Amino acid sequence: MFLKRGTNFLRTTTFRLTLWYLVVFSILSLAVFLVGYVSLASHLHNQTDHEIMDMAKAFEALYKEHGVTALQGEFTREAESRGTKRMFFQLFSPEGILLATSDLSQWNGFVTPHLAASAPSLGQVSFRTLSLAGHRHKVRVMISKADTDGNVLIIGNTLQDAEIMLEKYRETFGTALMAMLVCGGLVGWLLARKAMSGVQRVTDTATRIGRHDLRRRVELAGEGEEIKALAHAFNAMLERIESLLNELQQITDNVAHELRTPITRIRGIAETTLKGSGDLNEYREMAASIIDGSDDLIEMIGTMLEIAKTDSGVAELNLVPMNIQEIVEEAADLFTPMAEDRGINIRLDKPPHQTVEVLGDRSRLQRVVANLLDNAIKYTPYGGTVILSVDEYAGGVKVEISDTGVGINEKDIFHVFERFYRGDKSRSTTGSGLGLSLALAIIHAHGGNITVKSTDTGSVFSILLPSKQSLR
Ligand code: ADP
Repeated sequence: MFLKRGTNFLRTTTFRLTLWYLVVFSILSLAVFLVGYVSLASHLHNQTDHEIMDMAKAFEALYKEHGVTALQGEFTREAESRGTKRMFFQLFSPEGILLATSDLSQWNGFVTPHLAASAPSLGQVSFRTLSLAGHRHKVRVMISKADTDGNVLIIGNTLQDAEIMLEKYRETFGTALMAMLVCGGLVGWLLARKAMSGVQRVTDTATRIGRHDLRRRVELAGEGEEIKALAHAFNAMLERIESLLNELQQITDNVAHELRTPITRIRGIAETTLKGSGDLNEYREMAASIIDGSDDLIEMIGTMLEIAKTDSGVAELNLVPMNIQEIVEEAADLFTPMAEDRGINIRLDKPPHQTVEVLGDRSRLQRVVANLLDNAIKYTPYGGTVILSVDEYAGGVKVEISDTGVGINEKDIFHVFERFYRGDKSRSTTGSGLGLSLALAIIHAHGGNITVKSTDTGSVFSILLPSKQSLR
């Protein structure tokens, strides 16, 4: 069937389910057997006891009316008609002397004065079940006082019929149980195999998935909800892995592409200098250019690593309660000289009385605000304005950075948060296309989001962060 070579059959779920099924099935069958057996056995015993009692009553009546001789005759007749092998009757005097008895030749002369001595008081009967030497079957014996003088009547009846019937019952049930266990085991195994077939399909798909075959999915085919849920979860996981791998592929392509340009440039500088006049100043210039180029590369690689670590959750955030207004104000102060150089006015729209606290990593949030503010200044022409504001927003905080800059094209706006993406309008400005990706990764790691709106007359970037309270 569908077991892989090397799989231990005894450890498969199919086998275990079948085994469980068989164990439960056997226990239930045995319980049914026991209930039937006990009630049959007690019914047979009761029947024997009633028969003996009826006989005892008849004997007592006869004895009271006609005496010992009549009883002796009746003992002999009754034993002969029922079989001297099957029954015996005895009457004892209070002293233990045998007054009357049926033919005891089949009973090895079994006389029971010791039983007569243990007779209960008049009007009561006691029953014993005895095993006799030389007799295969047990004997049911009744002991009772026959009259007020203390004479004791004892009647013995073999339990042969009852025992044979019970033996037959055991044999029949044993055979039926065996047949039921074989059929039950087969049915159990088929059911278990059917139940596990969905799991097997998931396993097969997982086994067949290779490096270039991530498109494969587990097909759903009318199994129970649990298997459906497993297949759905597995397919969803494959979906995620596939999209992550695609993303990774894209990032790798981008990285290779983005690194090639500066490295080629650095190589070009070195080559030109080598082919040049060999003047020391030329070499100095080359060294300085190579250092600058290398610094840019190092910064780009550092940012890429930071994005990857933040995105994957490897970078641990040092979360502390903080007032985001302070960070915005500090950033505004820090960038004012640069903005003034470009004739740009930075304005804080809200007075510094905001008290909405967020749980955040201070240095990382500073970096986010700095990146957005740097962009706003970078993409705003001389004489423009950049406005910063902090506001409460749907259970959190909204930091808005708006500018009167060049804006973002409709075709670019959906891509500006992608790694290395640079809009058409930014071709003439320096940059790596990583600033917004890093900002978004950091804000996502804080449980927030960044949105952007833009027109030809400027852009508005909004950082949304959950408040400290809403994170609890
Ligand atoms: P970089 O600024 O280094 O190019 P970013 O990731 O910071 O990279 O930004 C990605 C792109 O988004 C930029 O190239 C630019 O086209 C666009 N952009 C970002 N901020 C603004 C802004 N304030 N105004 C206009 N365009 C912007």
